[in-house]
Amino acid sequence: MSRSAHPAGPRHADVYPEGHYTAPAADLNVLDEKVWARTVRRNSDGVVTVGGIEVSRLAEEFGTPAYFLDEADFRARCRAWADAFGPDADVFYAGKAFLSRAVVRWLKEEGLNLDVCSGGELTTALDAGMPAERIAFHGNNKSAEEIERAVRVGVGRIVLDSFQEIVRVAHIAQSMGKRQRVQIRVTVGVEAHTHEFIATAHEDQKFGIALADGLAAEAVRRALRLDGLELIGIHSHIGSQIFDMAGFEVSARRVVQLLAEVRDEHGVELPEIDLGGGLGIAYTSEDDPSEPHEIAKALHEIVSRECEAAGLATPRISVEPGRAIVGPTAFTLYEVGTIKPLEGLRTYVSVDGGMSDNIRTALYDAEYSVALVSRTSDAEPMLVRVVGKHCESGDIVVRDAFLPADLAPGDLIAVPATGAYCRSMASNYNHSLRPPVVAVNDGQARVIVRRETEEDLLRLDVG
Ligand SMILES: *Cc1c(COP(=O)(O)O)cnc(C)c1O
Repeated sequence: MSRSAHPAGPRHADVYPEGHYTAPAADLNVLDEKVWARTVRRNSDGVVTVGGIEVSRLAEEFGTPAYFLDEADFRARCRAWADAFGPDADVFYAGKAFLSRAVVRWLKEEGLNLDVCSGGELTTALDAGMPAERIAFHGNNKSAEEIERAVRVGVGRIVLDSFQEIVRVAHIAQSMGKRQRVQIRVTVGVEAHTHEFIATAHEDQKFGIALADGLAAEAVRRALRLDGLELIGIHSHIGSQIFDMAGFEVSARRVVQLLAEVRDEHGVELPEIDLGGGLGIAYTSEDDPSEPHEIAKALHEIVSRECEAAGLATPRISVEPGRAIVGPTAFTLYEVGTIKPLEGLRTYVSVDGGMSDNIRTALYDAEYSVALVSRTSDAEPMLVRVVGKHCESGDIVVRDAFLPADLAPGDLIAVPATGAYCRSMASNYNHSLRPPVVAVNDGQARVIVRRETEEDLLRLDVG
């Protein structure tokens, strides 16, 4: 995406400093529904509400910074994905985006399955009552203990990531007298992000077994020979924040080719393919994600077309959206602390959180939006950079955005679309206390992950 400077609107005919932004929205008080959770509104007093509760009340009760998660929106998105893919496909929510016991219960109630990639995620899922057969276990370096536990509790599938793991899982399952359902994760030479994808012949990443050089075919050969394994299919995950189906098209074609080779060599038609996750969401008004039914239709068409061409029955499809389900359902609420105007450049707005509650801007140069939510304002837009309180100049939450020029300490501002990869990647940097996640639904707010306390910090520090 372009990061070059460009003139942005009528404000003193300014050319803004280098950064990525379009002109400020015509009215900064208007909330773009694309980036906000479904029940977010601004009420007649100018205060933003979620689930019918004013953010000022939420801040008073739960403090800031805090993540507020719109439960109705989360459930609606689960249902939209499940309905779009229908009974002949499986939707696995990628737990790494955000996982808590409440979330697991919602997933269970809405009929979704769950991807985990660590013992900790597996524990959370099982503790909250997710049936093991609805859990898929991922990871490029699962420990022997993790594999043993996954097999023992009977997870629905383990996604095998390497040649070593094929043998390890087979051995562990066999020694328990079990036959574990598995998929093999292949890398198809497609890396997709946002509006583009790169097709490469050579894989340079830690995950999966390359299709190239017959490696994946060899993995299938080995897995089919081992008694401890029931090979149910092939898995491919091509990227993140993807808006364009073209990468999935190439990926599906290559996976189906492998299925055809497997049939020709072994006389076996593997019944499932998993196309992974990575579907994009709107972080700013410029992003235009597709709806689940459009994605489902496109993926079903691609797979059935490729299978027909290869003379294969269409396998059962699964997908693994994480961000696309939870991302848009939450926002982070901050209180404005210090404000530092830099004449002719930008205004730094410091909030009471930062890179410890949202590392994505520092880590991936991610883009976010921000709005003043405790009141409306008719002041001019000012170019801001929202920064945290950490001892680190890279501690940026929103790199470039506009807020009203009368912004003042004590105002509440909110960053939308922070449901995915924010709390789950939060840290204790500077011994900060990780914020709570509060679920809001129909006039009720309840903590689902509580705020850390200084006691929590000291408990780990054994002196
Ligand atoms: C991270 C991941 C996902 C989910 O990615 P999103 O961008 O959150 O949709 C799905 N499958 C696998 C294997 C992953 O590693």
